[in-house]
Amino acid sequence: MAATRIDGKAVAARILDQVKTSAAAFRAAQGRPPGLAVVLVGEDPASQVYVRNKGREADAAGFRSEQHSLPVTTSEATLLSLVAKLNADPGIDGILVQLPLPKGIDTETVLLAIDPAKDVDGFHPVNVGLLGTGAADRALVPCTPAGAVILVESVLGPSLAGKHAVVVGRSNIVGKPVAQLLLQRDATVTIAHSRTADLPAICRMADILVAAVGRPEMIRGDWVKPGAVVIDVGINRIAAPEKGEGKTRLVGDVATEEAAVHAAAITPVPGGVGPMTIALLMANTLAAAHLRAGLPRPAFGA
Ligand code: NAP
Repeated sequence: MAATRIDGKAVAARILDQVKTSAAAFRAAQGRPPGLAVVLVGEDPASQVYVRNKGREADAAGFRSEQHSLPVTTSEATLLSLVAKLNADPGIDGILVQLPLPKGIDTETVLLAIDPAKDVDGFHPVNVGLLGTGAADRALVPCTPAGAVILVESVLGPSLAGKHAVVVGRSNIVGKPVAQLLLQRDATVTIAHSRTADLPAICRMADILVAAVGRPEMIRGDWVKPGAVVIDVGINRIAAPEKGEGKTRLVGDVATEEAAVHAAAITPVPGGVGPMTIALLMANTLAAAHLRAGLPRPAFGA
């Protein structure tokens, strides 16, 4: 039987609706909307699109939304002074510095300068530490991993006790936080990476298989355990000569059609994890606004 396709667009739209309602309640109670500042340095075309989309969603959610576009020649000191200004602005709850930063600016220095209470990307070591020590209720969790795990929950429910999850990829941005979130939901978690021996055999043990590798369709159908839930975080642009000369298309890290023969449920690319990232950024901004105001953070789910 073919796997159910997990509709990330639909789940993201539901979360954005919840965010909008909760933002209106926050505004009514606090006399101000939640605020999100997005900082872009340079003119990377992909980053420009991401930043524009983030601004559009923040407007739609009823947030105060600011975009700061700085030239590629911006010095680290200038960027740090903007971050300090945003840290001190009481109407800004979330600060996102779009990565990658141009050469000459040290990414770690900039990320460390963001107030952890406003770190809606969840990359500051304070938030990484809170997640790692199980204090996720106080942490701002990276958006893509949080979105990926909500998609798992949309199929399996909130408790993953007794399930074996295999996460392929150990980046700080995706693999490690996904593994932490799955562990917190009581899954038994294996993290695989480029030095893992016999990756196909490890993947075949997975009730939940999360691919965050960045290699087009690396995970083949016969690596998937019958009945598994497969979450494909990968976004890879490959040549698509069948669409015409010079054309491209997006594929994930999983060979979707092959894997769908074995899996119970699988995320498509595009339309799976991708749309969740921006929805979780809005949810994180709202969570930051509540935590900063001493209010319980709202819960968002599929
Ligand atoms: P990354 O930093 O490049 O990490 C890739 C991970 O995959 C590394 O841990 C690497 O292992 C592992 N790996 C590479 N080749 C492998 C192999 N042959 N076998 C097993 N493991 C292998 O990438 P990332 O930032 O985590 O992103 C992963 C994918 O997710 C990319 O396609 C990216 O575009 C996508 N992504 C999507 C979103 C979204 O949906 N919004 C957001 C972020 C990322 P080592 O550690 O041993 O090198």
